[in-house]
Amino acid sequence: TDKQPKGKDQGSFEIGLKDVVHGQVVTRFPPEPSGYLHIGHAKAALLNDYFAKTYEGKLIVRFDDTNPSKEKVEFEESIKEDLLLLGIKADQITYTSDSFDKLYEYALQMIKEGNAYVDDTDVDTMRAERMQQDGIESKSRNLSIEENLKRFEEMKNGTEFGLKCCLRAKIDMKNKNKCLRDPVLYRCNIAVPHHRTGNKWKIYPIYDFACPIVDSLEGVTHALRTNEYRDRNPQYEWILNALKLRQVHIWDFSRLNFVYTLLSKRKLTWFVDEGLVTGWDDPRFPTVRGIRRRGMTIDALRQYILMQGASQKNLELEWDKIWALNKKIIDPVAPRHTALDSDKITPVKIVGDEVKTEIKEMPKHKKNPDVGNKLTTFSSELYLAFEDAKTLEVGEKVTFMDWGNFNVEKIQWAADKSHIVLIEVKINPDLDYKGTKKITWLSRAETGKDESTPVKVTLFDYDYLITKKKLEETDDVKNFVTPVTEFKTDAICDANLRSVKKGDIIQLERKGYYICDKQFDASKPTEPIHLIFIPDGKAV
Ligand code: ATP
Ligand code: MG
Ligand code: MG
Repeated sequence: TDKQPKGKDQGSFEIGLKDVVHGQVVTRFPPEPSGYLHIGHAKAALLNDYFAKTYEGKLIVRFDDTNPSKEKVEFEESIKEDLLLLGIKADQITYTSDSFDKLYEYALQMIKEGNAYVDDTDVDTMRAERMQQDGIESKSRNLSIEENLKRFEEMKNGTEFGLKCCLRAKIDMKNKNKCLRDPVLYRCNIAVPHHRTGNKWKIYPIYDFACPIVDSLEGVTHALRTNEYRDRNPQYEWILNALKLRQVHIWDFSRLNFVYTLLSKRKLTWFVDEGLVTGWDDPRFPTVRGIRRRGMTIDALRQYILMQGASQKNLELEWDKIWALNKKIIDPVAPRHTALDSDKITPVKIVGDEVKTEIKEMPKHKKNPDVGNKLTTFSSELYLAFEDAKTLEVGEKVTFMDWGNFNVEKIQWAADKSHIVLIEVKINPDLDYKGTKKITWLSRAETGKDESTPVKVTLFDYDYLITKKKLEETDDVKNFVTPVTEFKTDAICDANLRSVKKGDIIQLERKGYYICDKQFDASKPTEPIHLIFIPDGKAV
């Protein structure tokens, strides 16, 4: 195994591989098409891509399709799309199933050279024998080569006896490293046809057997693996040695884990099947699609993952760092808009001076003129959010953002104090804004024009799907489901929102960053636009 650079935990991009020949590095990302890519897979994919690019080598994306019971074409397609979203283009796409014939030949070779045997020991006994302090050898361990070949043929044909068997490597049942206690290499599966090879095979190679062989055959020079597999590295090397195949450098990196987050396709599938989320692209999901829909940029994701680089620490990471990084990327370019919560929205009237209704061009971003301009309607009839309105006092000087100072003249509460009927304000020409409340507002003047009529939006925010920071293997996820995880607020937004497109990121002044999830549809003008709150890394 390569010695790896220590790599500071944050901020270090100095990650490298050992024994590289520039232009000849071959890496591979081997997803199993059994679910959509999540942020952990994105780490593996981005690191492989990073090394292939850094050394001007080649990246193979290999579908690790050795278990037909879990795999589907739908997942394969989604993985291809998500890799493109991540900006990763494979130089070559392969399938472990393309090597099934060769893998079968290698299995025969292992048997013929006395390196593998066919075991009909039942699963429980096999596990018990392996887990014993000293390890107990299977009753099948010393069968003759002829008997093993005969049994393997039965497995291949899926006979009643064959189905009870598996092929095991003959390594060392006494080894301290239990991964070397005769691991399984091949098993039967007749439950479902394979999505690519159909009914051709009744036996399928185990990942731990297929992976080193296919890596070696495909010319992979550096195999990146999460360090949770470190105990299995000697097994990987043993298989290549036994078959006299070229060795591959293994480069370990730490598995990505986040607090309150499930990164297991099996558990995510459960949430989808239970209807607890709307699908694999739900904004509460840690899938590539989910976090993208929540407003994560690929830039932030890439930077975050390369920052962790070679770190070997397996931590439960907080989400705030990656969202803070994301905020740094979107803040300089996100157009600024105004939204007011609809509930008890408060009418305001400017009294005293005459204020003509007029539409003015204003910058969408005060510090970045490249973001362009928006249209803001000024008039004597305004709305304020009730949250702001209820804090005002008669005689107070307040600042209406992008406009100026006003004096509060009169506040007319409803008799039952449930809401405010009208607030009257007067222009205060004083240009000193220090210490005043800064308040967002929208014109409510009826102009009959779309460009100055606020538009309805629904603001979405989300909570973690699970209530426990770190789920243990023994925890049943059912007992840790957060009861309510979606929160909706009705609001109105400035008229410019009509031209915001799905996927656009904006900032709502004094509220935060949002991504458009459903854009304005002129054929259904009363349907609200959907905006999803983008976490900004601020502790709540
Ligand atoms: P899951 O448990 O979610 O099904 P997996 O490891 O079984 O994940 P694969 O499709 O086999 O899923 O994974 C493809 C690659 O992604 C592997 O190289 C794997 O090590 C890596 N990977 C999976 N999860 C993570 C993670 N949380 N952090 C880093 N890499 C990961
Ligand atoms: Mg896997
Ligand atoms: Mg897994």
